Amino acid sequence: MNALDESRPISLLGFSEGELHESLTRECGSSVPRFRATQICEWIYRHYVTRFEEMANVPADLRETLARRYAIVQSEIVAEQRSTDGTHKVLLRWRNGGTTECVFLPSKERVTACISTQVGCPVKCTFCASGVGGLERNLSVGEIVEQAWRIAGLCASLGRRLSNVVFMGLGEPLANYDATVGALRTINASWGLAIGARRITISTVGLPSQMRRLADEDLQITLALSLHAPTDELRRELIPWADRVSIDELIEACRYYFDRTGREVTLEYILLDGVNNLPHHAEQLAGVSKRMRSNVNLICYNEVAESGFKRPTNESVAGFAAALSERGVNCNVRRSRGRDIDAACGQLRRKTTEPR
Ligand code: SF4
Repeated sequence: MNALDESRPISLLGFSEGELHESLTRECGSSVPRFRATQICEWIYRHYVTRFEEMANVPADLRETLARRYAIVQSEIVAEQRSTDGTHKVLLRWRNGGTTECVFLPSKERVTACISTQVGCPVKCTFCASGVGGLERNLSVGEIVEQAWRIAGLCASLGRRLSNVVFMGLGEPLANYDATVGALRTINASWGLAIGARRITISTVGLPSQMRRLADEDLQITLALSLHAPTDELRRELIPWADRVSIDELIEACRYYFDRTGREVTLEYILLDGVNNLPHHAEQLAGVSKRMRSNVNLICYNEVAESGFKRPTNESVAGFAAALSERGVNCNVRRSRGRDIDAACGQLRRKTTEPR
């Protein structure tokens, strides 16, 4: 929900259609027909307008109120990088403070937006640039939606349609639960970005109680668990928050998610050369995967300066994938994108906003 602070414009992207109608009625001091909220949502989510005067079928006095009290965007673009493979990374600076990344990832069949849920990240995984400075603040519903909306607008300008949204940028989505779920409802809603729930993925490092809560939301979204290690011992070396939760507890939460939603959980596994990609790791990972309804997504590490981890060779990735397949695991190797730009999550932000 938007705070009604008189000094700041109210974020339109933070509202559902119903909430927008209530807000308009409050701000205008008289009843505004419900269809006005529908029209405004159409201008925003179908035509990607950024100026209220473009809303041609909205009466002039309402457009004036909108311009005086509301804002469509809350960020400015401070840096962009384009890869030869079409990947386009955008760094946004927020009016409420901080910077985050969002990414346009086109392929022949689909266009995916990768978006952030927090400024920085509290988890501080040892291999990740996003966690280096820790958490600055949570993003609001409007700020999370704005990233997907910007990428959807970019798609429209290129004659394409945004088809998928992944919550895999900066931050731990389930540590900012209410804003994350609010945003995914707008991204999914027919009056919003209208992205099918099955085409939305939330990636978490594993917060069992929030995973259960998400399972109970009655949404058909995909849950991706960032496992990254097949044993608690190794996982705790890579992910500081793994200290708080065992793989057994995560498996229980994943089973609950499948039972409630009928959706298989995706196990994300970032391959770090010599650390978690040895033959016995494949065997252990297959054991974890088979204890629940899941598939495995292998990700080749994109090097981050100072981290000390290495990207494995293509041959070793193929060998690891084959070892999983031989054990009956449904496994997919995620194609590396944007390797000629700062491909790893948080790299562009670090480079742009932190002194060297
Ligand atoms: S990998 Fe994800 S959870 Fe870990 S520090 Fe990076 S953004 Fe946070």
